[in-house]
Amino acid sequence: MTMEHLLELDKKHFIHPTSSIQQQQEKGAKIIVEKGEGIYLTDKNGSVYMDVMSSLWNVNVGHGREELAEAAAEQMKKLAFSSAFSTFSHEPAIKLAEKIASLAPKGLNAVFFTSGGSESNDTAFKLVRHYWRIQDQPNRRKIISLKRGYHGVAAASTSATGIPEFWNMAGQMMTDFHHADTPYENGTDKAIVSLRQLIEAEGPETIAAFIAEPVQGAGGVLIPPSDFFKEVRNVCDEYGILLIADEVITGFGRTGKMFGVENWGVTPDLMSFAKGVTSGYVPLGGVIVSNHIHDVLKEKSKGTLFHGYTYSGHPTAAAVALKNLEIIEKEELVENSRKMGEELLKGFQKLKEEIDIVGNVRTIGLLGAVELVQDPKTNKRFSPDYQVAAKVIEALHQRGVICRAVTYEGTDIICFSPPLIINPSQIDSLLERLKGAIKEVKEGLT
Ligand code: PLP
Repeated sequence: MTMEHLLELDKKHFIHPTSSIQQQQEKGAKIIVEKGEGIYLTDKNGSVYMDVMSSLWNVNVGHGREELAEAAAEQMKKLAFSSAFSTFSHEPAIKLAEKIASLAPKGLNAVFFTSGGSESNDTAFKLVRHYWRIQDQPNRRKIISLKRGYHGVAAASTSATGIPEFWNMAGQMMTDFHHADTPYENGTDKAIVSLRQLIEAEGPETIAAFIAEPVQGAGGVLIPPSDFFKEVRNVCDEYGILLIADEVITGFGRTGKMFGVENWGVTPDLMSFAKGVTSGYVPLGGVIVSNHIHDVLKEKSKGTLFHGYTYSGHPTAAAVALKNLEIIEKEELVENSRKMGEELLKGFQKLKEEIDIVGNVRTIGLLGAVELVQDPKTNKRFSPDYQVAAKVIEALHQRGVICRAVTYEGTDIICFSPPLIINPSQIDSLLERLKGAIKEVKEGLT
């Protein structure tokens, strides 16, 4: 098909996720991607781009891995799909559950599979409410999450997401969801005080669980102070509240550890995951629960557990996930994520010295951010009228880099989440292009 024809059909028939429908109708799709290889994407016109977001923070092993295509083909030829409902089971899902248990923090060993991150968090909320209900505490229904946290867009995960724009589309938030202050502006102590106040105000005996990302991704790659999660764990233990870690972005090597919580020395009661488990080659997610929760379910969950997706434990998706995890281990990508993240940070710090609109820079493994500010000394932000972040993203695009900006609450944050296979010369090339892009935008402002 020609570009023109594809663009026309796109406008007519394709409603894009998280998009401006009016902009699509006016301008059409910006890029039609045709193929991927390593950290690169090639569009229909033959232009090549560095995909430094791993598409949606998920293509951890990079694009175009034939081993994954072969794993899918092999499984499809044998058994593409079969149910895991009720008493049915199959080898790929059993093996994958065992594999994830072996990688997860000690004491989390039983997995419920889903098709993605939103379903995983909705599942986690239903599981914790069920856990309390079967222990005669049905009032423990409330879920606390952090402001600016992102937990997906299914019915309940939309409400756990701490970004109001997402609730507005659904008309309103669900009841029994509450958002606590983050530690990002005012530090751990103030955030913990406000968490305690929220718990006391709502009544500890009504709270089922607290959920947070070990590093907030969509909120702008916000790395918490190193003591925050330990304090959260203490508060949860004090009030008997379950702790859910949303590892949808941070799982499987993204932060330089297998799971994000390992950076903070805490063990959650449940972990939701998706994205990196298959590197996005096929949709799959899940929730892994502690031995204690599993024991309670085994002992007290009578009759049918009324929760299950058609694709829970999809055999082809499980086979791809197993191969993907094998690649992550064999190629030592968790270690590469840590090392390359350090290189990226050094480059960001150099940029900060060289260009006076670069504010805070940070990385944790291969999750990184560069903030653009009018005055780095006072952290004064640019007026949103300047659209600084959007301009930098466009200047990067012109230089063959696909990247993403976060502009909530007047911030100009450029986010980075490249495939974990990225090498030092690709990091250098990215930094060179980033420098050119920021300089160009800065010059245009004066
Ligand atoms: N949780 C986090 C931390 C995420 O970043 C995302 C997606 O970006 C989700 C949940 C939702 O996952 P999905 O889009 O697969 O439903």
